[in-house]
Amino acid sequence: MNSDKIGLMGGTFNPIHYGHLVAAEEARHQFNLDQVIFIPSGYPPHRTPRSVIPAEDRYIMTALAIATNPYFNISRIEIERPGPSYTIDTVRAFREMYPDSQLFFITGLDAILEILTWRDPYELVKLAHFIAVTRPGYNAECLKNLDREILDNVSLLEIPGYAISSTLIRERVAQGKPIRYMVPEPVEAYIRKHGLYRQ
Ligand code: NAP
Repeated sequence: MNSDKIGLMGGTFNPIHYGHLVAAEEARHQFNLDQVIFIPSGYPPHRTPRSVIPAEDRYIMTALAIATNPYFNISRIEIERPGPSYTIDTVRAFREMYPDSQLFFITGLDAILEILTWRDPYELVKLAHFIAVTRPGYNAECLKNLDREILDNVSLLEIPGYAISSTLIRERVAQGKPIRYMVPEPVEAYIRKHGLYRQ
């Protein structure tokens, strides 16, 4: 399928939660995207392997979470590519697969603030427009260290009530607290069934 405007939703998704889903849906609506493809990282280059559960579990939970949205799809591209999951490799691959489409890379503002430490950031922002998801009360000061070449290719997307984080979910599971209504039910069931994030 060759869509005109494709959102690439990159993240560790450790685990996926309603904040991610609301963000993807809002990005789809505001930027008029034809589809949003979730791309769980295989081996996130900026993290120690021990802090992240296996990619296959994160992939399955993401697939469960998006199953009912006809505009959402998922890709195994980063899971199947050996070595660290550099976003530039992913975006180049999508550019080749969809040469005529406009690409949008959606991720958290905190992640984008570090973009100058990523591989080939200037090429990256030429290949895809970046949508930085942020929480209410965001202040433009945060972006002051990024130069014009990057900033011209980054849009902010403020998500109301986006206070849930993967860290919060992991901590709550470890403390035996409920995560119902923070993640889709099948994701909660998967976490319980496989005893994920207990410590
Ligand atoms: P992160 O540091 O875990 O996330 C930073 C913040 O953004 C967190 O608050 C996170 O919330 C939020 N977030 C992450 N993905 C999001 C999304 N798609 N929509 C809304 N909020 C999101 O960042 P990460 O998830 O590991 O990495 C984000 C993306 O950047 C991934 O695709 C990763 O591969 C890419 N990246 C690439 C490089 C590189 O190429 N060298 C380096 C770093 C990151 P939660 O914790 O709740 O998710």
